[in-house]
Amino acid sequence: MIRESIQLEMNFDGTNENRFKQRFDLGEFQLIAELPVPSADTPLADAVRRASDFEYLVHSQEGPKASIAFVNEAPAGYSLDMVQFASELCKYSRDRHILYLHGRDNTMKDILESVRHAHSEGFKNFCAVTGAAVPGEGEAETRKHVFLESVNILGAVRAAGLSSISVGATVNPYQYTPESALAQSFKMFRKLDNGADYLVAQYGWDMMKLQEMIWNLFRREINIPTVARLMFLTPDNAEQVCAGGFHGVDISPDFEKLLKDERDHSFAQFEAAQLRRIQIHAAGARLLGFSAVQIAGVTNVALMETILQKVREAFREFPTFEDWRTAYREYYDRLDMAPYPNEFYLFDHLLETDLPAEQLSFEPGIRPLTRSEKFRRRLAGALFSNADKLPARERRLTKKLLVSCRGCNLCRLPQTDYVCPESCPKGLANGSCGCGRANGNCELMDAECVFAQRTRIANSRIDYSSLEEGAVPSVEERP
Ligand code: SF4
Ligand code: SF4
Repeated sequence: MIRESIQLEMNFDGTNENRFKQRFDLGEFQLIAELPVPSADTPLADAVRRASDFEYLVHSQEGPKASIAFVNEAPAGYSLDMVQFASELCKYSRDRHILYLHGRDNTMKDILESVRHAHSEGFKNFCAVTGAAVPGEGEAETRKHVFLESVNILGAVRAAGLSSISVGATVNPYQYTPESALAQSFKMFRKLDNGADYLVAQYGWDMMKLQEMIWNLFRREINIPTVARLMFLTPDNAEQVCAGGFHGVDISPDFEKLLKDERDHSFAQFEAAQLRRIQIHAAGARLLGFSAVQIAGVTNVALMETILQKVREAFREFPTFEDWRTAYREYYDRLDMAPYPNEFYLFDHLLETDLPAEQLSFEPGIRPLTRSEKFRRRLAGALFSNADKLPARERRLTKKLLVSCRGCNLCRLPQTDYVCPESCPKGLANGSCGCGRANGNCELMDAECVFAQRTRIANSRIDYSSLEEGAVPSVEERP
């Protein structure tokens, strides 16, 4: 890789400059390359040496400017210190990059210390995520871990009062039942209510769902930068996607068959098919109104260079929404991208136009509460209306019988529609993790996601404020 021609963009710690944020403010489309932080047993110097060409590649991009998103795929403690790694790797222009803040097995104190450290090193952009169960981990094991919620992380980082920062949050728009789609939508609005500066959509391949997210924001007249995360498929991760190995990533039977067919071809043909796919999806995201694409699944520098170049070519190839839509439809040739039989969309007429019709149809068809659910809710409301003001151990047996209390140290029942947050294996109180199954069930229990149930409860009283406004505190100790 030729390094001589690089024009360094210096940023001096302590300035108020934040180029990542400024580009959003100016409406400049951005490319983000995702870089996983190496495991904790990697010597820092080796990790930095291996990633230096990646950093150089990103730094030297012209046209749409590029950034790195540093992500931690392993839980806290299993990977190198992100701030140390990013600081050693990026000597310049740190305000272009994003550091992910992961809530799993973390404390708010540690997260805030890490944010302050990063800020003192010149990093200004963060993205809060709650974290996921480790692949293969069951419900019982997950329950042993703390998941600080992204909503609470957002609030705490904002309250730290650091200058010129921007804090984003993730959303999984690929939800296919009325309850799960609305639960994610409510959580998205709650994240905005708690100060998210931009939103990153989880990866998926159904462009109707990406447009649904944009229209959903438009419906509320919310104009906020949005990033479409796109996974570049290698034969290995395509196999994992088909096997359901990525949390919250459900593909349709048609798409699964297509990927399996592509994997039967030679490696070169498979890679060519994936390069075309990422071109179509990146160009589509841009024309649907996203402000950036974030490319995941690639650490090979030469491959990332090819992808960035191909994505730029696609931006030129598809100047208008209509050009792109024709190509998208031909490319997928009537493939159904929803994981049948779950194929709910919040809006009609998706992908028919780039802008939503004036009247958005929005008829979710949520399942009503059963009589027994109504009865238990009324009773819980009568008995526990001030449970958040009393010691959590008060009336524990009654709570156990009525709401399956597990005995945490901070009762939040009145703020959670009298559904115990500990019913969720991750102990979430603010909204669904986005990792549920396509049918709306929890990824870890053979039962409806707690937030699908709360969506039905909120719908029964036609008041969704408990799901999309304010923040319910997280606990840092699991019962
Ligand atoms: S929030 Fe749930 S686990 Fe905690 S005290 Fe209340 S009912 Fe019990
Ligand atoms: S109950 Fe819902 S939010 Fe909780 S882990 Fe399961 S899918 Fe995620």
